[in-house]
Parts: sequence; structure tokens; C-alpha cells
Amino acid sequence: MTVDSKKKRYYRKNVDFFKFVEKLKLWPSRSGTLHGVKSMTIRGNTAEIITHCNETFQIFNSKNSRAARCLRNKLFFQACKTCKIPDWKLAKYSSTHVNQNYGSRL
Ligand SMILES: [Zn+2]
Repeated sequence: MTVDSKKKRYYRKNVDFFKFVEKLKLWPSRSGTLHGVKSMTIRGNTAEIITHCNETFQIFNSKNSRAARCLRNKLFFQACKTCKIPDWKLAKYSSTHVNQNYGSRL
């Protein structure tokens, strides 16, 4: 699989946070580790995420949460080694931008 890392993709800032996470398949933990999402179960305004390293996170559909900010601004320190996030996915993520007025509404 090849991904043109120069190709930037944009998402609207006001897209549904769950859809955004579902699309990225990445989740930043509180310690600043980026995990790969294995499955995501949405239950109304909360969702349960299971990462590839078998950690479970209960998340809330909030664009203003810590995690939402992390994902938008790429505030993470390391990728989880157990999750083994492939390089192309990280490259794709690093070329993802969130913009107020421009981009996919998902
Ligand atoms: Zn992990």
C-alpha cells in the first residue's frame, strides 16, 4: 500500500468527533501514547474503544476534550509499540489537517 505523504487531507473542525476517530483509527492515551484502534462501539454519546494492545477506553463525543485536541493538534509523544501502528498510517495522520472552513465533512 502506498500513500503519498505529501498529499494533505483536511477535515472540518466541526466534524463529528466519533466519526473522526473512526476514520483515523488512532487514539491518544492520557500519557501521550498514540494507540491504534481495533474496534469502536458507539453507544449514543459515549463510545468504547479497544486498541490493538487490548486497552479499553471509554470516550465521550466531545470536540473540546483532551483527546480531540490531541488528535487535531497531533499532541502525542510516541506511538504505542504494542499496537504496531504501520508507518503509512502515521504518515497519513501527519498529513491530516483540521480546518475551520475547509475540508471533508465526513
Ligand atoms: Zn497500544
